[in-house]
Amino acid sequence: MNPLNLRVVLVEPTQPGNIGATARAMDNMGLEDLRLVNPCDHLSDESVKFATNAAFILKKATIYKSLAEALADQKLVIATSARVREKFHSFLHLHQLKDELAAFPRETPTALVFGRENSGLTNQEICLCNYWITIPTFGKSSSLNLAQAVLLVLYEFRKFDFKESLAPFETAPVANSHQIEYLKDHLFKILNDIQFIRPGKYESLWSSFSSLIGRAKPDERDVRMMRGIFNKIELSLGLKKKRRK
Ligand code: SAH
Repeated sequence: MNPLNLRVVLVEPTQPGNIGATARAMDNMGLEDLRLVNPCDHLSDESVKFATNAAFILKKATIYKSLAEALADQKLVIATSARVREKFHSFLHLHQLKDELAAFPRETPTALVFGRENSGLTNQEICLCNYWITIPTFGKSSSLNLAQAVLLVLYEFRKFDFKESLAPFETAPVANSHQIEYLKDHLFKILNDIQFIRPGKYESLWSSFSSLIGRAKPDERDVRMMRGIFNKIELSLGLKKKRRK
């Protein structure tokens, strides 16, 4: 999602735990600017407990008397709601924001506005916003816990930035054809020795096993492991001695 100069605005939150959990979600997603409009005690023990390592966000949160005041310096304002009953505003599903906001520069000062736990945002507050979004739900209730709604919205904004930060899974080089054929020969020697292959079935079993190995695309480590297992089986069953005779 493009805009990345983000802040969270909570309007009249009444549960200190929700403010703390919001701070935690913000820290998880790399945000620090928390704005609170007429909040309950956001530095209470409960709030700090829910914030865990993000108490620093609570400490520097800024307090406002109205939503209009909290948004004064913002250029893009996004309202969130569990209910999409408003007559005058067309709500988007959260995932539709990506296309809507594609043209906004990343540095656009953007506020994400969340409402009261028991009654959401008023119509007047919704009128201060440019976009109105809802997180689609599937159960009987569409109303999420406030801090969980914050986390989901922030994740939607940040998820496209994660790509590069994941360390690639370390893999060994893919085995070459010579190593694969050696592996197959080795297994089939054992299968012969233990009389697993019924007369006339060698070719079809060879094809099936080749197909399995072809799909598995083993790397050199896999081949070494299989060869080690086969060696041990041969030793345990006395097959090596038997073949040498
Ligand atoms: N009873 C209220 C729900 C408030 S939940 C109502 O019906 O409006 C508190 C806040 O969490 C909401 O104001 C909104 O900001 C956010 N929220 C909860 N569920 C949401 C959802 N499904 N989609 C978007 N925001 C949601």
